[in-house]
Amino acid sequence: MWRGKDVARLAGGTLLGDAEVQVRGCLLDSRRAQGGEIFFALPGERRDGHEFLAAAWQAGAALALADQARWGPDVKTWPARPSEIPPGKALVLVDSVPVALRTLAKAWRERIGAKVVAVTGSNGKTTTKDMVAAVLGRRYRVCKNLENHNNELGLPFTVLNAPPDTEILVLEMGMRGLGQIRALTEIARPDTGVITNIGTAHLELLGSREKIARAKWELVEALPKDGWAVLNAEDRPSAEKAKTDPHPARFYGLRGDWMKAEVSGTDLVAQGAMGTGFIAAWGGERAQVRLPLPGEHHVLDALAALAVGTIYGISLAEGARGLEGVELSRMRLEVRPGIEGSTLISDVYNANPASMQASLGILKERAGTSPTVAILGEMYELGEESKSGHNRVGRVAAALGLSSLITVGALAEDIAVGAREAGLDSDKVNICATREEAVEKAVHILKKLPAGAWVLVKGSRGMRMETVSGALQAGD
Ligand code: ATP
Ligand code: MG
Repeated sequence: MWRGKDVARLAGGTLLGDAEVQVRGCLLDSRRAQGGEIFFALPGERRDGHEFLAAAWQAGAALALADQARWGPDVKTWPARPSEIPPGKALVLVDSVPVALRTLAKAWRERIGAKVVAVTGSNGKTTTKDMVAAVLGRRYRVCKNLENHNNELGLPFTVLNAPPDTEILVLEMGMRGLGQIRALTEIARPDTGVITNIGTAHLELLGSREKIARAKWELVEALPKDGWAVLNAEDRPSAEKAKTDPHPARFYGLRGDWMKAEVSGTDLVAQGAMGTGFIAAWGGERAQVRLPLPGEHHVLDALAALAVGTIYGISLAEGARGLEGVELSRMRLEVRPGIEGSTLISDVYNANPASMQASLGILKERAGTSPTVAILGEMYELGEESKSGHNRVGRVAAALGLSSLITVGALAEDIAVGAREAGLDSDKVNICATREEAVEKAVHILKKLPAGAWVLVKGSRGMRMETVSGALQAGD
């Protein structure tokens, strides 16, 4: 625990009010106060945190950290004079509130001395983070970031809120450009790094695959000399990068396309609407795993978590028990009853070629011999790979032998092109300009298909494909 004066010293700020006040944890939203926190006054989307200093103290925050340059009577709710700071509360004025947040998070990480496992990658970061926490949670006091809090605000926020007795911190690290992971590792100083895969997400911003690989590898570069990199044996860029990297690496995978997978999975079977069973193996160890999620890619995420477990002395059997009860931040993929006796797989949170491919795999795996319909919207931020990425998804759809494909939006027309090129009958391929048109088409198709069809709805966030899955849901 810190006192007000410690916060001021660590953040290099000026302390006003009660120097001895005890603080723990942090807040970015004054309404979330429980008592004793540091409130960081940051600009929000519509309002500025500096308007809420008084509200934060009143709600229970012990200390407010604010921008020196904003001090003055121009911000209405501010205490106009130090004497107006409520008794037992403190105000620390700094040059930059975001910098102070990072500095304090770094200091807290050192103070609690927990081990840190960081997870990055193009797809499956949040899922893998939750699974790693579930595995490590069998033996350790684990703290993980909430939901998707993986950026320069969410990560330090998580670190600062970690209880002092935390043994392992599991942190997701997101990025949209070079140097961003490095900045996060400077705060978190990870002991172990997981890269789920190095794909094409954010190609538009980064420009090339090589740059993407370099950006992700910043995590491995930040590890101590003996810090393990946990890597996907199916991911070529990871395998290539590992060849010239001195850190110890543990590869996991189902096939081990590019590296031998030390932690491997076999005998995958679908269990119920959502579950997957498989056998995990590592050295001479084997364990049956019942994962409450569908799809091969989730088995890969689970293997990554088991591989982390092996580094922290957790047996596969123990890890498997953790995975059975994994608490996911937010289930992106939902299975619901649809119209005409269909089953809807709604995976509308986001899309890129890899995750489209993964979801098409789930559609086929769950549908078995039932008819299958995929309603696929545009994928954004693919840059130069936009056309080929959409085309590739179409080819995958064709190879799976869908009963019907519906594309939504102009970019997604290339999905239709790819599907036709790969041999899907033209009369099974439907190009729609709008979501409304796609819904109309889907209703028409589902009426004609035998009952019990499985329908996948997926597209980039901006496509708002939830309106499509909503319209195809069975009425109450
Ligand atoms: P974000 O960049 O939004 O933080 P993320 O990397 O945290 O995403 P998740 O939220 O875990 O990823 O999953 C996003 C999508 O990726 C989901 O549709 C999920 O089904 C899919 N997915 C999960 N794991 C993998 C994987 N290993 N390979 C490919 N796709 C995956
Ligand atoms: Mg995420």
